[in-house]
Amino acid sequence: MLIDLETRNLRLRHPLVTAHGSTTHRHIIEITANDNGVQGQGEAAPLPGFGLESFEESLTALENWAKNPKRLPDSPAARSGATTAIENLEKAKSSTSPTNGKIAVQALIGSAEISSIESEVSDALEQGYLAIKMKVAATDTKTDIARIRRAAHLVRPHSALRLDANGGWSLDDALHVLSAIDSSDVDLVEEPTVNPLDWQKIREETGIKIGADEQLTNELQVHQLLQHGAAQTFVLKPSVIGGPSATRKIAELARRNGVNILISSFLDGPIALRSARDLAMELAPNEIHGLGTASLFVDKFPVDVVPSGGFLHRS
Ligand SMILES: [Mg+2]
Repeated sequence: MLIDLETRNLRLRHPLVTAHGSTTHRHIIEITANDNGVQGQGEAAPLPGFGLESFEESLTALENWAKNPKRLPDSPAARSGATTAIENLEKAKSSTSPTNGKIAVQALIGSAEISSIESEVSDALEQGYLAIKMKVAATDTKTDIARIRRAAHLVRPHSALRLDANGGWSLDDALHVLSAIDSSDVDLVEEPTVNPLDWQKIREETGIKIGADEQLTNELQVHQLLQHGAAQTFVLKPSVIGGPSATRKIAELARRNGVNILISSFLDGPIALRSARDLAMELAPNEIHGLGTASLFVDKFPVDVVPSGGFLHRS
């Protein structure tokens, strides 16, 4: 097996502001595994603040793997990209073509200002999105309450509103903001605080369902979350948690414990997005997934990973 690595830079249309900071672009390593003329692709793209390696560490890990393909990289983003390339290579070799279909995806609202929220939410609804996710906890609690109320007013009853705090609230902040809004307006809040031991209390006091995302980086954490009943939904990012087979494994654990799963992009480039779309169709075909991220970029993505009418299509 020959492994080829290429780096590229993707620019976001607007900075995405989360509790981890502001992201303006994505530096991506595209991986192509070649075997006797058959190819499989993967992608690695770490982002600061998510417990991953740096871009340079990821590139070094992949370069070492390219020299010795029997030894997979240990660092999570590099490993996810490598295992995705291998799985895609195996699929290409078996030449079974996947079935056509489509999967619902959510729109992502990253703006902090109320005026931009209004236009972004209206655009998303017009385009037919069934769920809208808004980043919270990157500003003060008073502003967040106003942002959520405004978004909820626009979104209901057409679509579902989801929130993502990226662990940016304290327990008090989370209780303060989420108690100030109508629980029936919010479908889910991802990572309200950095400590999953807070989440059951938040769920009980506010009635809002909790999603785990950043906490799902290894199997030990997955088992702890399940043991504490910390989350009702697992948001799985294949490009962070180890690629397709690791995602299937966690999805199965979640299913056995009555936890829903969503598949999510990590502001992925086209290759990782396509692979995540296929996993979403395989593992949770009736959910609305976090895979509507291609439209956030200035760069043009291939049409099969760009949302159309709130769906990604495979044909
Ligand atoms: Mg999240």
